[in-house]
Amino acid sequence: MSNAEAEPVAVRCGALVDDRQQTEVPRVDVISARDVPLGGPRAMTVRRTLPHRERTLIGAWCFADHYGPDYVAATGGMDLPPHPHTGLQTVTWLFAGEAEHRDSLGSHALVRPGEMNLMTSGYGIAHAEVSTPRTTVVHGVQLWVALPEEHRNTERDFRHHVPEPLRVDGAEIRVFLGSIAGETSPVRTFTPLLGAEVILAPGVTVTLAVETAFEHGVLVDSGKVRVADTLLHPAELGYVHPGIDALTLVNESDGPARTILLGGTPFDEEIVMWWNFVGRSHGDIVRAREDWEASTERFGVVEGYPGGRLPAPALPNAVVRPRRNPPRR
Ligand code: MN
Repeated sequence: MSNAEAEPVAVRCGALVDDRQQTEVPRVDVISARDVPLGGPRAMTVRRTLPHRERTLIGAWCFADHYGPDYVAATGGMDLPPHPHTGLQTVTWLFAGEAEHRDSLGSHALVRPGEMNLMTSGYGIAHAEVSTPRTTVVHGVQLWVALPEEHRNTERDFRHHVPEPLRVDGAEIRVFLGSIAGETSPVRTFTPLLGAEVILAPGVTVTLAVETAFEHGVLVDSGKVRVADTLLHPAELGYVHPGIDALTLVNESDGPARTILLGGTPFDEEIVMWWNFVGRSHGDIVRAREDWEASTERFGVVEGYPGGRLPAPALPNAVVRPRRNPPRR
């Protein structure tokens, strides 16, 4: 997915390394989503929780958009013309519908619920995403992972992975990146990372061993889910501080609850995000925008999309200012 805001704000993200002792009770901060219209006359509105004023990263996860269920008859579905990315990986995970992906590596793939599309931009890639004609409902998440300095100009890559669902104490878990509940995704990450869908039957409590060094995010799609003494509602992202060795999720609703569980070691580099680019400086962003606008080799060409490419928005007037996670309590 593209960040198709008309006037995207530049965000500098700085990770906070939490050095407190291990705690028994998870400390949870609630991050509320903001609605972001993706542009166009019938366009979708997404619920964005990362980056947020109060938290810009969870591990290397730097962007989280949650959307739907949206009826294609009303919104026209998803239609993102070719657009660029730098310095990141995009994770597409659907709850309903089907999307067709084309990128400048030559990849052409479908993604369906329970399947992950992971695209690594490295120095530069372009892709298009369109919901297929048989899709009636668009519902899912679009997540981005910042690449660490050492690998940010790595080669372009595209992976499709279908995790086997696990059943643990009334929970159904699909691990798409990293490891949890004894299952490990075979897909490579460039920093220690976790990404999983966790569906809880009504009233279910599940406790999962987690990496003590990880910080976590619990993004609720449906139902009400309690983490420690914090009740999370749909579209909220619960940030769980590092230092715990187990995470307990309780479905306090009458129906099933669906969550996306994110995790990773705190990302100890400052990054700058603007539009669809992740860089290290304002200059990186300016160059990436110029390269896209000039159709240089950097991003390549997406074949097979019936239409033109997405132009970059105007750059902000000001140089990007530092932006960090909140101070430790
Ligand atoms: Mn995209």
